[in-house]
Amino acid sequence: MYIVHRYQQGRKWVARLPFEADLLEALEHFAGKEEIKVGRVEAIGAVKKAVIGFYDQDKKEYGSLEFEEPLEILTCLGNFSRKDGLPKAHLHVTLSRHDGSTLGGHLMPGSTVFACEAVIEELVGPGLNRGYDPQTGLPLWEKK
Ligand code: ZN
Repeated sequence: MYIVHRYQQGRKWVARLPFEADLLEALEHFAGKEEIKVGRVEAIGAVKKAVIGFYDQDKKEYGSLEFEEPLEILTCLGNFSRKDGLPKAHLHVTLSRHDGSTLGGHLMPGSTVFACEAVIEELVGPGLNRGYDPQTGLPLWEKK
């Protein structure tokens, strides 16, 4: 394994996100405001629209899909670290439609909250920064 750090449990929050907030940006903003360097997040709720991505491993770029419809957030899971010194949230979502079918992917900016309840946990320990990884083309956690 490339990255192994040990962390202590830090602060924990239970938060309700504002109506029509951008899901990704609201969580990143919270991490910045509370100065969370490393942490994890889980959230459930609903969005009015969603933008999710899928990483094309050959082209080394994200494609994005937009869903302009009400969707339940069955799971929104991810982590906080830093990229270029700024808070960076990496989140994946599983969403469900009116008929119960599901879709999901890498959460992109542009997903609009209808209602959302998040549990956020801070991990206290070494900083974790994202940097360009030439093998994958992704901004992965950097080796120390
Ligand atoms: Zn992802």
